Amino acid sequence: MRFETLAVHAGGHLDETTGAVAPPLHLSTTFGRDALGNPVAGHSYIRDSNPNQSSLETALAALEGGAAALAFSSGMGAASALLQALPAGAHVVLPEDLYYGVRAAARDYLSKWGMTWDAVPMHDLAALREALRPETRLVWLESPSNPLIGITDLAAATAIAHEKGARVVVDNTFATPVLQRPLDLGADVALHSTTKYMGGHSDVIGGALVFREAGLFHEEALHARHILGAVASPFASWLVLRGLRTLPVRVERQARTAHALATWLETHPRVEAVHYPGLPSHPGHEVAARQMSAFGAMLSFRVKGSREETLAVSARVALFTRATSLGGVESLLEHRATSEGPGSTTPENLLRVSVGLEHEDDLRADLDQALAG
Ligand SMILES: *Cc1c(COP(=O)(O)O)cnc(C)c1O
Repeated sequence: MRFETLAVHAGGHLDETTGAVAPPLHLSTTFGRDALGNPVAGHSYIRDSNPNQSSLETALAALEGGAAALAFSSGMGAASALLQALPAGAHVVLPEDLYYGVRAAARDYLSKWGMTWDAVPMHDLAALREALRPETRLVWLESPSNPLIGITDLAAATAIAHEKGARVVVDNTFATPVLQRPLDLGADVALHSTTKYMGGHSDVIGGALVFREAGLFHEEALHARHILGAVASPFASWLVLRGLRTLPVRVERQARTAHALATWLETHPRVEAVHYPGLPSHPGHEVAARQMSAFGAMLSFRVKGSREETLAVSARVALFTRATSLGGVESLLEHRATSEGPGSTTPENLLRVSVGLEHEDDLRADLDQALAG
């Protein structure tokens, strides 16, 4: 089946007892056993597995083209479980431009867990090669990256990591499997904050890991979820699965609108630079064109001016909502350095935009009046 068809049907079926077309929500925390003590339908306790989480995992594996998927309580829950699946003594290579939560997790926890890490500018494959050590177990890739919308050559970086025996995870939150398929490019794991495009309506938090092969890494991450507890609740799983049904149409339209807005912003006299991989001026444009089917709905731009002038632009938007996060139907705009707080390395004149499903003309008009001041 093609992607759009899988998005509508994977993990779903007509409910046998009621004929319900929409999936039932199973809130039960515990599940019956037969006379011999075996679970009657595979589930025993909600933290081990539960029906809504399992349906979502079936759909996630189908959409990313993986052998197995795990759903989590959040994207950070998924990221933590993957790190917790590594052996003590492991070395991890991270990109410098990386979701700030994963950077904080590395900074505050990896040494407690007996691991070491280095961060490299991941677009520079020579820097990656140099950072790899015999004990490197995992290379973390994020493309497009947050918040600078940088591009990493996923196939090339994966091949380099694999040469040295390290596994590769790609945070595919920004691109989604609609636009980019890390497992097809050789990566071992695709990670998602399903809070973003997969949920798609800014009303559910969740995370996911999709594994190219079922094996030890998957089992270790499953064990971490089971014992450390970052499971997806039934209702969260239900909402994310509902979001997946419309993922291709939402992401395709949002990416088209974002491309048009980025192209227009680049010509705006008050804009210093636009970070969007669909623009030929983006240093990762050619790589992105090779590994993505469209360039995503996230962009950031730098205002010609100071932190104060940038905040003034953000203060004037009327249709965009000033808020963090991304991937919902409504467009959001954020002064990223403020959101990241002290220690942020994000430029003070940078605004990050998540393009929603509003009409392109209305979004352009709002940005135009905000920039004009
Ligand atoms: C939001 C986000 C995360 C973390 O996900 P949560 O669901 O907020 O825990 C990880 N990676 C990227 C790229 C994100 O945007």
